[in-house]
Amino acid sequence: MPGVGDGRPAIVDIHASCDALLNSGWRRLEITAQVTESGESLPILAYLNSTSVDHVLIGGIHGREPAGAIALARYAGRLAERGRGQSILLLPLLNPWGYSRHLRYGPGGQSVSDSDHRLGRATAPACPEAAAITSFVLDAVRVNPGAAVLDLHEDPVYEDPSYSLDGHGAYLYLSGDGALEHPVARRVYRCLEASSFPLIKEGVTRFGERLVDGVIVDTEDGSIDELLARKRGCSPVITVEIALHGETTPPLPERVATYVGVLDAFFGP
Ligand SMILES: [Zn+2]
Repeated sequence: MPGVGDGRPAIVDIHASCDALLNSGWRRLEITAQVTESGESLPILAYLNSTSVDHVLIGGIHGREPAGAIALARYAGRLAERGRGQSILLLPLLNPWGYSRHLRYGPGGQSVSDSDHRLGRATAPACPEAAAITSFVLDAVRVNPGAAVLDLHEDPVYEDPSYSLDGHGAYLYLSGDGALEHPVARRVYRCLEASSFPLIKEGVTRFGERLVDGVIVDTEDGSIDELLARKRGCSPVITVEIALHGETTPPLPERVATYVGVLDAFFGP
């Protein structure tokens, strides 16, 4: 697999770090796989320590946003401890094909977790991964009402030369009943405010969403986050974005370190 110039680890290293959870009684399931041009199969893996969960962690949906997957892998040791008292579903790298190629979408040119077909807005899934991933979170696992969700993205604003987002830092999407005032969301908010990526308070995203105090509330974007908020009553559903002005601007290690901190804030003391 050709390397990407930002220093991201290989897919096998992400999975190897997460595999450490298996020693603590977690299970690993293969949701589906993406097949490369050379016929190699890249598994999309889930790790869980219970058949019904109150916490969902998601990374690596978009291939140009590697920090979340790397932070989740790095956090696996802490997750083993956290998992002694809490039920957790970890989806560390949902688009390994895009991750290895530094491409946003999967091989079908669509978002791998597009959920419009389960939200009544499309008759068919956008791609095979979208069918498998949405079916997994809705049908194969029980995600409890009120479960907290953390989906670690980044926003490569440099993808669109005609767009500019003023400011350096992060912003949040929050969904679910009472998500904006939820203590978990407030902890993540405060964590980012104290990090090297404080919240960009005002502006409009590439997708036309307006930031209010650094947050977009209850967006209808057809994402797995919207799906979990609407179909499973999850709250808060927290999607974190760090604005990227180039592939290594800001540097990947700084972004990963911030997301490790966000994970700690998500679970709390
Ligand atoms: Zn993204």
